[in-house]
Amino acid sequence: MSADRGAIAAALEHANVPALLVTLIHLTGDLGLLDGPIRPRQVWGDSQMGLTEQQRAEVRARAVPVIAALEDGAEQPRFRPSPEQVRDMASFLVGQAVGDDYLEFLLREVGLKPHPTGADGFEGFAANQRAAFHVVIVGAGMSGIVAAHRLGQAGISYTVVEKNADVGGTWLENTYPGCRVDTPNHSYSYSFAPRDWPQYFSAQPVLLDYFQDCATRFGIRDRIRFSTEVERLVFDEEQQVWTVHTRAVDGGTTGTLRANAVISAVGQLNRPRLPDIPGRDAFRGPSFHTARWDHRVALAGKRIAVIGTGASAFQAVPRIAPGAAEVFLFQRSPPWVNPRPEYHRDVPAGKHWLLNNVPHYARWYRLLQFWLSAEGALDYIYADDGWDEPGSVGKANRKLRRMLERHARKHLGEHPELLAKCIPDYAPGGKRMLYDDGTWFDTLKRPNVHLTTDPIARMSERGPVTAAGECFDVDVVIYATGFRTTDMLFPMQVIGRGGTDLRESWQGSPRAYRGVTIPGFPNLFCLYGPNTNVVVNTSIVILSECGVDYILHCLRLLLDTGSRSLECRQQVHDAYNEWIDAGNARTAWGAPGVRSWYKNDGGRVTQNWPYRLLDYWQQTRSADAADYRFR
Ligand code: NAP
Repeated sequence: MSADRGAIAAALEHANVPALLVTLIHLTGDLGLLDGPIRPRQVWGDSQMGLTEQQRAEVRARAVPVIAALEDGAEQPRFRPSPEQVRDMASFLVGQAVGDDYLEFLLREVGLKPHPTGADGFEGFAANQRAAFHVVIVGAGMSGIVAAHRLGQAGISYTVVEKNADVGGTWLENTYPGCRVDTPNHSYSYSFAPRDWPQYFSAQPVLLDYFQDCATRFGIRDRIRFSTEVERLVFDEEQQVWTVHTRAVDGGTTGTLRANAVISAVGQLNRPRLPDIPGRDAFRGPSFHTARWDHRVALAGKRIAVIGTGASAFQAVPRIAPGAAEVFLFQRSPPWVNPRPEYHRDVPAGKHWLLNNVPHYARWYRLLQFWLSAEGALDYIYADDGWDEPGSVGKANRKLRRMLERHARKHLGEHPELLAKCIPDYAPGGKRMLYDDGTWFDTLKRPNVHLTTDPIARMSERGPVTAAGECFDVDVVIYATGFRTTDMLFPMQVIGRGGTDLRESWQGSPRAYRGVTIPGFPNLFCLYGPNTNVVVNTSIVILSECGVDYILHCLRLLLDTGSRSLECRQQVHDAYNEWIDAGNARTAWGAPGVRSWYKNDGGRVTQNWPYRLLDYWQQTRSADAADYRFR
């Protein structure tokens, strides 16, 4: 039966054309296309990379017979590009020279080399040696699942301790209306578990289903102690093991586990932060935090105060505003809003078909998504030396600022008062930029939504009272005020070598080596630890996978050397953190005067990774024994 060319052409209408073009090269070996007249180039916010409609049509037309021949079975993909050709194809795709240092990364991302599995490198150790090494993983969210999966592959025994009754972490806890991933979903997924996502930025139930399904498929569930919280970790120096003190969340029953190593996978955005507003508890009506949404409270027809305009409010307010009587939105500083037309869109059927049926397309598409939201965006948020123009940190950053201002003007130009409130005074990238398809600005324009920038001075029994003395009479208060972030690993108490308390040793400024290991705390490993958060909206899933790879290398070092523990050398750790601090100082989020959850009270950036993702990937590909002290 011959392929339905009409159906293929219809599916191609939904193609990401740059990814399709490189897929064609990959399918046919026609490298001449790299020098052809149709060249993707970077245009902020345009995932079609500046290709004209005519160029797109040309590429689609060229693709129809190639894909039809594959469907007919007449042709099979036979071209296997060399690493250098992959680099050239990637450079072409992203409209920017991709250096040779990306080669290894690229080959894995486009499927020409397998991603390492947890088993790699562990084959040489006897099964009983591996099984005798027991790891406790704290948390069964996105990072904990990767850690468990990889340890399982390595044949290392582990127990996951999870405070919630189910798997999912942030995707289990955040159930507020409108909650969805704000990283392109095709890159916000494990490298080893691709999914046919229903939307470009899928909603929370879809994400939750994904992580829960992964936990089931990878056989992790049986090894999770649910509804159990780790209260305290104490390092036993004599035995060189950790004692893990747990408490059942419901019954309060306590217990202990012994572990050769502990992996903290508790996340950075785990414990809600309520603001220190005087009289906060005086409010007589219901109030709750976005991450503890109280679904019993009916919001329809109510007067609602929402405090905060970060990523959570940004998603929740557009959903609650249409049914509410009034929404009073209290903004301390506005977010930068980044145009993204497909933010709420379904992935069309044609695109699903391409992703699932055309060899290589999904890989190149994922690579492009990753690049546009990560490496390709970095130049826009780096500071230029000597730049002193307020509101930007460099030339490229100023260009971005102007583009984002234009976007705001496009939506709010006829509402000058509102527009003035919505243009941040800090540089783009100072805080997380929020993707929008116009929904946010449309919400702010609603007659029943009122944006207040006067600070809240106190809470009365009726609602917020501002510094100017205005009293808001509301039925419900919603805190969209973020999380306790610099208080990393809170509320666990972690006691390391010599009785050192981790919180005391950090003194409000968490630091780790490669975001993972900490001097004084042997065999304690962090995932999504200090300085491993990313701001330009790339996928933290990639960083967690890198972190797990690094931990596995550390565990191999232990088994290799027959040591009971390894501990990061202080000097190595300190030099690394100086390098991290120097990197963050050159970014928009590290700029003085910007307040965000990325910084601690002293203004040090404790959360963010300042360099390319490739750099983190490279750093975590192996562990150097010289960085550690073994016992
Ligand atoms: P957030 O970004 O920390 O935002 C908190 C908001 O509350 C900010 O607007 C902050 O103002 C404001 N605020 C705090 N204390 C206040 C006070 N006393 N009075 C008035 N306003 C106050 O928290 P979030 O929105 O929950 O987001 C946290 C992070 O979670 C995001 O950056 C993102 O990484 C992640 N997140 C991701 C998604 C997603 O992927 N879909 C969704 C939600 C969150 P200032 O800016 O002036 O401090």
